[in-house]
Amino acid sequence: MNITTPSSPASTLNPGLEPPAVIGPQPASVFADRAARFERLAAGHPSGDWLAFLARLTRVQHELLQRHPAVALPDAAALEQARRHAMPPLPANGWRRDPAWQRHLAILADRLMPDVPAVLQPTLIALASAEAGELDRLADSVLRAEYDPADAARLPFVAAALQVYWTWMAAQPALTGLERLDVPGLCPCCGSLPVASVVQTGQYTGARYLHCSLCNTEWNLVRVKCSTCGEGDKVSYRVLEGEAGQQDLVRAEVCDDCHSYLKIVHRDKEATADPVADDLATLALDILVDEAGYLRAGPNPLFVPGGAGD
Ligand SMILES: [Zn+2]
Ligand SMILES: [Zn+2]
Repeated sequence: MNITTPSSPASTLNPGLEPPAVIGPQPASVFADRAARFERLAAGHPSGDWLAFLARLTRVQHELLQRHPAVALPDAAALEQARRHAMPPLPANGWRRDPAWQRHLAILADRLMPDVPAVLQPTLIALASAEAGELDRLADSVLRAEYDPADAARLPFVAAALQVYWTWMAAQPALTGLERLDVPGLCPCCGSLPVASVVQTGQYTGARYLHCSLCNTEWNLVRVKCSTCGEGDKVSYRVLEGEAGQQDLVRAEVCDDCHSYLKIVHRDKEATADPVADDLATLALDILVDEAGYLRAGPNPLFVPGGAGD
């Protein structure tokens, strides 16, 4: 494992172009681009079969999002109240979920059944026939990031369905113009933890955003700053050695103040890099940083230890 010192991010920022505080998800491309990225990462990867399966799962997420039904959103008064109190308007914990997400899950299970790894077939069959109350219990577990090992195999599919539902809501015009919360490490739209942070390319090259693990909203956080405790003095970076082309594309930003870490994905070095897919293709980095005593600051709910891919 290599240790690198912080680079000087300010110099790469476009002068005069203030990056927006919050960027909502792009429904036409977010899951399609992620699926394509999973496919590319799967080629020649030791966990290639699993990554290729996640590519198929993400394709179904894309299709579900394109034909998503109109579901209830917070009304103007609720949006205003959330803004005034700096609270997320679509809180993962507390939002009254539309049953649409359970229909997403049923379709996901049905579509994936033909090419699911044999070991996961019983999981999909069980999910397809589960009662609404049981599915709600699993959803609560995903949304609180409290993963019971007994549920490990089912939770990534539940999470995938919830991601479609929350991403659709987060992308609606009523939810634009959000401000950051007082807590830097929580999504301004749904209050979830980030899966990773992303250094942007294009218009806002060099700006860093945290990427929501649930609704795919991104929110700006200056670089070389810990997303958990807000300190920057003891931040450094860890990278995996040796993986040609991958090196430096995904780094672990570790904080010696609070001993947490979050990965930082460089779209400025590879425009197709994706916080969810590139995270799951670099689990070896998590193992190294974990062994060094750091606790991961946000989940990737498509991977639950003890479940598929572990
Ligand atoms: Zn969110
Ligand atoms: Zn910290």
